[in-house]
Amino acid sequence: MADEQRRNEGELVVTDARATHVGEFSVRRALPTRGRRTVGPWCFVDHMGPQTFSPTKSFDIAPHPHLGLQTVTWLFDGEILHRDSLGSEQLIRPGQMNLMTSGEGIAHSEENPGVTSGQLHGVQLWVALPSSTRHGESAFEHHGELPTFEMLNGEGIVLIGRVGDAVSSARRDSEMVGVELKLRRGEHVVPLEKEFEYAVVVTKGELSVDGTLITPGHLAYLGQGRDEVRFSTSEEAVAMLLGGIPFEETILMWWNFVARTQDEISKAYESWMKSDDRFGRVASSLPRIEVGPPPWFRSNR
Ligand code: MN
Repeated sequence: MADEQRRNEGELVVTDARATHVGEFSVRRALPTRGRRTVGPWCFVDHMGPQTFSPTKSFDIAPHPHLGLQTVTWLFDGEILHRDSLGSEQLIRPGQMNLMTSGEGIAHSEENPGVTSGQLHGVQLWVALPSSTRHGESAFEHHGELPTFEMLNGEGIVLIGRVGDAVSSARRDSEMVGVELKLRRGEHVVPLEKEFEYAVVVTKGELSVDGTLITPGHLAYLGQGRDEVRFSTSEEAVAMLLGGIPFEETILMWWNFVARTQDEISKAYESWMKSDDRFGRVASSLPRIEVGPPPWFRSNR
């Protein structure tokens, strides 16, 4: 429950990510976890890889539906081909962002663009859409270049939102920010918004915040009320900094759907399984992903 989440002023809370799989790929799921469902509107944080793929170990994610969210795909290594039911077909590389807004329904696949072997390393993030836009049109944006800001010992890339004068043009339906921090060895100061809550997920190396060492596989929740955060690193490190105004609506997540009620999810599930027009078609050769029903599901027919 949202009220169970700890939001103490600036108190660091470190939780373990859950090791799981997406297709054949191992991921560390840093959000949601027991006790924390959201950080701002961010409701899902998967750190995938780094992992080697080959003709026998693919990372293809076949067509599947989404509801009530935005997906952010961001790579540190490798390439992914995105296809969706709006007809978008977009390759992404490290430093580029694919931002898909589901509205009431979209389907997509994320596929190997024909490379037979290599490394894949990245994050997939979900943003819960507020009720003001979650019933809106679906949309897709590719950002080939994003604004950056310099720090004394590193650089930040602003995916969504702003840090100082670095303002991303990506669509944003809530007050929020998403940043990749590329840190060299040393001390770092990142300006924050006091009204936002924040979390840090380290994807390479390690960093120290408030005297605590943070490594990959954890979510370091920074709370609200800070106007800056200080990190220190003894070697190169990479981390995602995610934040926003605490999301006040209680969301219900099941499979790839973010909703408010079981009934909304049941209807979306039924539409996907019946292959009706709601989620459209993805021009992919992979067979669509189907799963068993949610535990409360009763078909209307
Ligand atoms: Mn997806």
